[in-house]
Amino acid sequence: MPRFGFMLLFFLLSSGLAPGAMALSTASDLVFPPSFEFGIATAPGQTEDGLDDIWSDFARKGKIRAYQNQVSPELRTGFHSHPDGDLDWVKKSGVTKLRMGLDWQRLMPKRGVFDEVAIAKYRILIRKIKARRIGILLTLFHHSVPKWFQDQGGWKNPTSISDFVQFSEKLLTLFGNDVEEWITFNEPQIFAILAYQAGLWPPGETRGFLSLLDFGPAKGTVARALANMIRAHQEVYRLAHRMKPEIRIGIAQHIGFHQGVGVIGRLIAPFSGRFMNWYFPDRISEEMDFMGINYYGAEWVGSRGIEILPGEEYSEAGRAVHPGGLSLLLKEAGRRYHLPVIITENGIADETDWIRPAYIAEHLAAIHDAMDSGTPVRGYFVWTLADNLEWSDGYCPKFGLLEVDRKKGLKRIPRKSFAFYSKIAKSHSLMGSWREDAWKLYSSHQGEMRPFCRSQDGVTALDVPSLRKIPFNDWRFRRSFR
Ligand code: BGC
Repeated sequence: MPRFGFMLLFFLLSSGLAPGAMALSTASDLVFPPSFEFGIATAPGQTEDGLDDIWSDFARKGKIRAYQNQVSPELRTGFHSHPDGDLDWVKKSGVTKLRMGLDWQRLMPKRGVFDEVAIAKYRILIRKIKARRIGILLTLFHHSVPKWFQDQGGWKNPTSISDFVQFSEKLLTLFGNDVEEWITFNEPQIFAILAYQAGLWPPGETRGFLSLLDFGPAKGTVARALANMIRAHQEVYRLAHRMKPEIRIGIAQHIGFHQGVGVIGRLIAPFSGRFMNWYFPDRISEEMDFMGINYYGAEWVGSRGIEILPGEEYSEAGRAVHPGGLSLLLKEAGRRYHLPVIITENGIADETDWIRPAYIAEHLAAIHDAMDSGTPVRGYFVWTLADNLEWSDGYCPKFGLLEVDRKKGLKRIPRKSFAFYSKIAKSHSLMGSWREDAWKLYSSHQGEMRPFCRSQDGVTALDVPSLRKIPFNDWRFRRSFR
């Protein structure tokens, strides 16, 4: 979860986001065109066993809550050694595409040196996916870098550009014929801020907010890291198109619906929204074939940063549920970039599984609304298949369509929402009655307690979840909202 302070204000220009009118009746049947792709998204750093990486080092330093108190935390979900079971689940779900990555540290354990055994194993993995007739959307950077790369300063060092290009070129050469679409960067701004400013992600550097400043040549550290990521994206984009003109490359940008709390919050939110959502894609808009959007909900911005409000619904990871924001932001992305849009991630940490069906249904309704108004949305990926290592939140938030029982050898147990998403993916439609049933399930639990993995400061992760009351809040997607 992105956690950044309100002083982003320094950075920002202006948002241009304004609540608007939306058109949709809650119970209509919604049909998605046959070309619209339903998928599931994953990442290697969160699922692969056998990784000796910056995240395992960070955990060893005691920086990951809900890690030491778990059974075999180092195995993550065990996907690298045993991919077949999960790939069968993906197939069974009826989705046609898997968003995944191949771990950079594993492939390139030393600077400039590729590990042939690791390559051979990934070749087999790709073959297994293709044999199941599942398409691949491959992410090159997803919140993890090799240790040697981190030791040389990570993205803050300009050498990061050529290192990333070398890694990308190798993957494009190896898998260019197997992979239809590529993502260079997953949430570059989130990584740069959490790793090099907020201290929450490895290497855990903390700096003042001036590190975010970007006034032309006067750039703070985070802004310099982002400038290197921007160059790296542009170079990989050009290289890939030289290698394969028909290739499709984009990014997966974290987009949040920034809303102000109180007078100060209302002043800040337009600026924080503009910076967090559009800073990176604005700078590479000529070098994207599609715009990937990771959307989880609203960011309630107050004078002390992101706030957890008692009347709002949240995921266990502390993200405010707000499907209406997605429709508005999709339309904004459509206007800004005139590119096909893919929802590269959307999902909720919800161990109870009381909320997830309604969450998925209402976000799909919001997407359908944006498509009705002409935004070219081409696909939707649920985050994620199975409960996994949620970065510095450890194993507390449960994002999976499948529960992972760590005490029983990482056994997968499908949650009810697996079947719910599956019928949508298979039929390419969301029936009004499914949507209503999902809401009934959710509202029948309002007032009850459910796990919550974020403390009241909106930033700190918890080792064991606290309990939070499900508020009586109707967050369904509808024509108008505040
Ligand atoms: C990231 C994922 C993460 C998910 C849920 C996104 O920000 O790309 O890696 O697990 O959100 O928090």
